[in-house]
Amino acid sequence: MMIENVVGRFALPLGIGANFQINGQDYLVPMAIEEPSVVAAVSSGALLARSGGGFSTSSTDPVMIAQVQLLDVPDAAKAESAILAAKDQILGAADTSPTLTRLGGGPKEIEVRQLTGTPAGPMLIVHLLIDCQDAMGANAANTAAEAAAPLLERLSGGRAGLRILSNLSDRRRAWAEVEIPADAFRSNAFSGSEVIHGIAEANAFAYADPYRAATHNKGIFNGVDAVLLATGNDWRAVEAGAHAWAARDGQYRALTDWHVRGRADSESLYGRLELPIAVGTVGGATRSHPSARLALRILGLDLQGEAPIESEKGRSQANGDAGECQQGARALSEIVAAVGLAQNLAALRALVTTGIQHGHMRLHARQMAASAGAVGDAVEHIAGQMVAEGNIRVERAKELLQEKNGRLAGP
Ligand code: NAD
Repeated sequence: MMIENVVGRFALPLGIGANFQINGQDYLVPMAIEEPSVVAAVSSGALLARSGGGFSTSSTDPVMIAQVQLLDVPDAAKAESAILAAKDQILGAADTSPTLTRLGGGPKEIEVRQLTGTPAGPMLIVHLLIDCQDAMGANAANTAAEAAAPLLERLSGGRAGLRILSNLSDRRRAWAEVEIPADAFRSNAFSGSEVIHGIAEANAFAYADPYRAATHNKGIFNGVDAVLLATGNDWRAVEAGAHAWAARDGQYRALTDWHVRGRADSESLYGRLELPIAVGTVGGATRSHPSARLALRILGLDLQGEAPIESEKGRSQANGDAGECQQGARALSEIVAAVGLAQNLAALRALVTTGIQHGHMRLHARQMAASAGAVGDAVEHIAGQMVAEGNIRVERAKELLQEKNGRLAGP
């Protein structure tokens, strides 16, 4: 039983993001999402990236932050010194997971921050930095914070309030980069240079304006969330962390950087996405949900301690080889970053060329036709008619369906 008060299941389509090349290796990326055109768009973004050799990715160590809030501390400066002097003792108290420690993870560092000017008075916040290896680490972080709190109370003379992880996991970041020649963007209607300059201008808009940044970043999360969901990861946690990260200098901004490189005759588009990504390939639902487990296997990330399944033994380079490809949570976080960048690239290219509705329209029309009750061939027929009329509404789909059913029923 995964949750409480269960009355049923809520299924989502599982698609495959195609064409991904990440650090020289091919990937098929499982994506669970209800929104039409996201999977098609990300696959086209990944195909474009291939013209520049695909994505290069990297990441930090998988370090989460657990917070302990200390209130009514009589002397904050003295308490801070006492806590920092007792670092080893605190890390020892927070070392609650023998598995993490055995794997080389566990509590690694402490930090102390003083918060003043809050309505509840000044408070001392202690951060425990915990290497969570291949787990998202919420439970490890929460347990460590609770275990270290009594010692922190004694050292500070204060009272422990909250003891919980921070979802602003800014020590656990992944990034993806790509550089694509301008020529790859050329079409009958636009030169490659026009398109890549348009993409750079669109990114500058989203960097400078929170109204645009929210929509820009939402598009990135179309891809990011779909992979998180497919692999059984906590997408709310990653969203919360990434949005806080996007506002780290006091203004909410685009998570990406896109700019034009090179001279007029050899221009290219450089793109980068960096964000906190706290994901696991163990723990939570990653292994207990059968579809999540399958998604991890498709990515080549669920082979730890298991023989490869028969069909995987002779497979080509798609999704690598257990012996060569990087395993675990860091590898997953880097794939997620590449997907977010590909999704953003596809959206920006559409926005600066034909506009986003062009590609969306037919898929949207199909969805309207299905909502109106059309099934089988009728979906395509009604969608086609609505696109031709430029009138894509569920009411029109119902009318067309009635007409079609009437014709079939005969006089
Ligand atoms: P978990 O506790 O289910 O599993 C993690 C444990 O797996 C580790 O503590 C370790 O003992 C073990 N393990 C085995 N092999 C490992 C390896 N190679 N690397 C690391 N650990 C290994 O899961 P979790 O990651 O602590 O928690 C994730 C869940 O917590 C998610 O479902 C999430 O929704 C939920 N959660 C999130 C929040 C939040 O984000 N604010 C708060 C509470 C709970």
